[in-house]
Amino acid sequence: MTRKQIAAAALLGALVTGLQVLRAEEGMFPISMVPSLNLAARGLKIPAGEIFSPERDSLIYAILSVGATGSFVSPQGLFVTNHHVAFGAVQSASTTEKDYLTNGFLARSRGDEVPAKGMTARITESFQDVSPEVLRAVQPGQSLAERTRAIEKRIKEIVTETESRFPGKRAEVSEMFIGRTYVLFIYTYLKDIRLVYIPPRSIGEFGGETDNWMWPRHTGDFSFLRAYTGPDGKPADYSPRNIPFQPKRHLKVNPAGLQEGDFLFLLGYPGRTYRHFPAGYLAYEEEVRMPYVVEWYGRQIALMEKAGEGNPAVALKLAARIKRLANTMKNYQGKLQGMRKIDLVRKKAEEEKELQKYIDADAGLRKTYGDVLPALAQSYRELRRMSDRELILEHLRSGVQMFEFAMAAVEAAAERQKPDLERESEYMDRNWAQTRRRLLLARAGFFAPVDQEALRELLRRALRLGETGRLKAVDALFASDSSEKAVDAFVAECYRKTQMADEAFLDALLGKKPAEIAALPDPFLKLAADLYPAYRELAETRKARKGAQDGLFARLAEVREKFLGKNFLPDANSTLRLTFGHIRGYEPADGLYYKPFTTLAGVLEKTSGEDPFRSPAPLAHLWKARDFGRFEHPALKDIPVCMLYDTDTTGGNSGSPVLDARGELVGINFDRTFDATINDYAWSSSYSRSIAVDIRYVLWLAEKFSGAGFLFDEMGIRQ
Ligand code: ASP
Repeated sequence: MTRKQIAAAALLGALVTGLQVLRAEEGMFPISMVPSLNLAARGLKIPAGEIFSPERDSLIYAILSVGATGSFVSPQGLFVTNHHVAFGAVQSASTTEKDYLTNGFLARSRGDEVPAKGMTARITESFQDVSPEVLRAVQPGQSLAERTRAIEKRIKEIVTETESRFPGKRAEVSEMFIGRTYVLFIYTYLKDIRLVYIPPRSIGEFGGETDNWMWPRHTGDFSFLRAYTGPDGKPADYSPRNIPFQPKRHLKVNPAGLQEGDFLFLLGYPGRTYRHFPAGYLAYEEEVRMPYVVEWYGRQIALMEKAGEGNPAVALKLAARIKRLANTMKNYQGKLQGMRKIDLVRKKAEEEKELQKYIDADAGLRKTYGDVLPALAQSYRELRRMSDRELILEHLRSGVQMFEFAMAAVEAAAERQKPDLERESEYMDRNWAQTRRRLLLARAGFFAPVDQEALRELLRRALRLGETGRLKAVDALFASDSSEKAVDAFVAECYRKTQMADEAFLDALLGKKPAEIAALPDPFLKLAADLYPAYRELAETRKARKGAQDGLFARLAEVREKFLGKNFLPDANSTLRLTFGHIRGYEPADGLYYKPFTTLAGVLEKTSGEDPFRSPAPLAHLWKARDFGRFEHPALKDIPVCMLYDTDTTGGNSGSPVLDARGELVGINFDRTFDATINDYAWSSSYSRSIAVDIRYVLWLAEKFSGAGFLFDEMGIRQ
């Protein structure tokens, strides 16, 4: 990537110019804004250009997207992220004999490092505003679904054209403001990632779901991995001949850590926020979708936990799935509580009432924007009307693996017949290998009795759907007998006869033509083929909904900017962002104050010997011996374990480096407090707090507990 292409960053004018940030603490700032943030006045001690500058190899080259975030800490591709981010890869590398999940893992030499299956990493190389090019695809006379398809196709053209110009790179066009601004990002894409040092689960996940999304926190949620390239230095799939990737920049580690009140900033890839969404959307989330998901995930988790009881092999198989569902479920519970507590939907509705008054008071505004809020409200009413059906279709795919495999095979066969640019994105040539890999890897979490129970429940729910949402294919299946017994018999028969659990069968299936699939007698293929039209219809509905909402969102943003007299930051969308703040406690409730640091003494205090509060015995011995070395917190006289600060983060910021005023690594972000789960809708300095594992705990564990101090050399930390 040349300097010139990187300088294209300057084109990001739409996001930068005229932006007044009224509350500087709120904000996941696009990286293009770093020069305009005046971070020096906030406490930054290095030039902002050291974090990001189109002219030089700045800190952003040390930051990776690994689903969530990671950061390089050595010139040899060593990077840190969270234990929970590497969890799935650690699980797939584990067996009941070599259980790295339970016992942890440490590679004493490069040759001992183990592939982190399914993990890839991306580094942002450059970005460029392509809004006019994308929006040119919109033509008068297009239906709403056609409008969406035209934009999607234009984006695919830009992406494939860019990737052909820069072989080996990944290109993505990200929608920054819905229907309004689009930015082309070019990434270095690394495909060979390996496990280096993973603490035991009793440290990396200490406190489990009980403590997840909570403070005080005592979790050592970190892991070390390494990225590799081919022997020629170019990104390549795993091969024993590969060599460590040499990043343009890596972070310096500061073993001295931070104190209360200190300035800090984070770089990372926050996933999704909804701060510019209208009241109708928030009400749908609060009243319909989140309660549904909480109930459904709770049921599935209970089933999986029961299946794993007294059966370590099954428990290991299901561990990552349980963790993923439980993480989302508790996040939603936090959001639901928070939304009620601050009366979010009503507040948003009131703001919209005021906005509508402002629009109606001016004939010009009324003509351009008068229909925006009513039309958005209507679109969410329509979504609610069909939501039961939509939720069943969605969870059939996400919760029933045999069905998902069959559906993916049916869909892949149909999509891969089409010209590349007209396919749904996961079936395009550039994504197909990854899609196949994802599906084949997902088999590791398959356990028939759990799968079977999920299918049975969802089919029963489908038969109870109201008139508007009925699924014809399901009705037809049970036309002669729709009793629960008939459903149970049908489901049992499906699992008895299917071959879908067989890896070779599935592998071969994901390459077949529609006619070949239709000729196979597998009951899940039949069920998927029956339901395929309903999924096509749903995809069309979603495209039409997006087609309608895109224009409305774009106009809503325009008029809100006029009304409030300020510009907005784009919602999080998995692109690289910066957020800053200070180490700071808070008052979660009347009479209660949360201090910003926890300590090793707190880990031992919580250690009950029962899950999830077991900790390895040597921790207590080391603590009693006060063997803290240089990692002791001067005021706390103990090892600081986790810390709290008032940045603006969300899912995807897991693993984000916490950086001090000099841009050195002092912690690894991994969570937010329960109150802060509503960040995704509304951020506030009074309740929004993020949580990191303190670097002093990480280094102390590495040196004293795991005997991994040899890694310090390559990180440039003096022993
Ligand atoms: N723990 C979170 C996650 O799982 C990080 C966050 O949302 O703050 O992504």
